[in-house]
Amino acid sequence: MTTDSRFVIVGGGLAAGKLAEALRDNDFDGAITLITEEEHLPYERPPLSKEHLLGKKELSEFTVHPGQWYRDHRVDIRLATAVTSIDRAAKTVALPDGSTLRYDRLALATGSRARRLPIPGADAEGVHQLRTIEESDTLVRLFGSIRRLAVIGAGWIGLEVTAAARAAGVEVTVLESESTPLLAALGREMGEVFADLHRQHEVDLRCGVKVTEIITADGRATGVRLDDGAVVEADAVLLAVGARPNIELAADAGLAVDAGVLVDESLATGDPDIVAVGDIADQQHPVLGRRIRVEHWATALNQPAVAAQTMLGKPAVYDRIPYFFTDQYDLGMEYTGYVAPDQRATVVVRGDLDSREFVAFWLDSGNRVLAGMNVNVWDVTDRIKQLIQSGEPVDPQHLADTAAEL
Ligand SMILES: Cc1cc2nc3c(=O)[nH]c(=O)nc-3n(C[C@H](O)[C@H](O)[C@H](O)COP(=O)(O)OP(=O)(O)OC[C@H]3O[C@@H](n4cnc5c(N)ncnc54)[C@H](O)[C@@H]3O)c2cc1C
Repeated sequence: MTTDSRFVIVGGGLAAGKLAEALRDNDFDGAITLITEEEHLPYERPPLSKEHLLGKKELSEFTVHPGQWYRDHRVDIRLATAVTSIDRAAKTVALPDGSTLRYDRLALATGSRARRLPIPGADAEGVHQLRTIEESDTLVRLFGSIRRLAVIGAGWIGLEVTAAARAAGVEVTVLESESTPLLAALGREMGEVFADLHRQHEVDLRCGVKVTEIITADGRATGVRLDDGAVVEADAVLLAVGARPNIELAADAGLAVDAGVLVDESLATGDPDIVAVGDIADQQHPVLGRRIRVEHWATALNQPAVAAQTMLGKPAVYDRIPYFFTDQYDLGMEYTGYVAPDQRATVVVRGDLDSREFVAFWLDSGNRVLAGMNVNVWDVTDRIKQLIQSGEPVDPQHLADTAAEL
């Protein structure tokens, strides 16, 4: 690559900000343009449902780099600009004003959007979602003015917002279609840990229920109707029913997509001049031996270093084990590893479930560790990673014994 080379990054989240940094760290001297739909410099999203919602952190504290950094590193940032299409033959991206921008290498870091729910009333005033800083700010204001919140979906974001709302004194009803919160992510037994946690904080958690309608009066949400006819009255509703990857741009450009944009071990798409990182990357993972798409902070943080090398033509492989975390009330948790939805796993608990101080392990049929979740237990992530990477069978009894070394 020469100083005349032009790299374009599409997206304005953690992955985009980190990729600009990684390119400069790799001594790339050419032009970098970062184009984001949002009106803000790239920022991290985890605080939107935690510290920011609790009034403990300002946007400037979780902005990936301050404005000066982009100026110092000659990164041309285009805010409030959504790339509308990619012309792979001409190697250009199109901008909303009709202009185009040439690239030698292109990185897609378009992330996810909150999933909508196709039910009557979902677009009414008073129905909220959470993906952006503006939406987090709206919830902060809301918590100061409402008495009752209905949360649809007991996934990570639904539960974190619930914890923040409870801290603000809001009465919360959580409506979950599965029999347990976080069922797909953690399974029944560990999902129940989170169910107990919220019930102990006086959350009205209703599992196995189906929301059929958001009830409105004069265009404003006043509650939620369930399929058994029951009505949950609320002053506001949060839709927290998962995220959808923003893969349309890639798909329209003829790149292969499935659960996300298909990339190889080096994060390259089928087009050698285009990489994809973060939430949208559906990667052939070299350690897990399967395709995965990970909608978590650590992936957006760490993939860019590999993507930058790939863009610069250096050999690189992204082989980190997936990792994520959550904070709810006084529960802090880290999860390392991956259990596929179709994979049978046995859960082994080391520690005390009732006091919520434990490490849970997911083992495959050969007693190999697939994943580990430490709850209010710290500094064990590296050990869990080693156990997963070793691929060696473990003794479940030894693993469960807190007196034995991990
Ligand atoms: C409220 C919330 C809490 C979270 N908490 C945690 C947590 O506790 N732990 C954890 O591990 N993960 C958490 N996550 C997930 C984590 O934030 C995401 O995995 C991460 O943000 C992904 O980063 P990304 O850069 O790939 O995409 P995103 O952060 O989604 O950023 C994508 C960016 O691209 C922009 N964009 C999209 N299309 C275009 C276009 N055509 N042109 C220009 N720009 C475009 C978007 O506007 C956005 O700015 C949370 C997510 C949310 C929303």
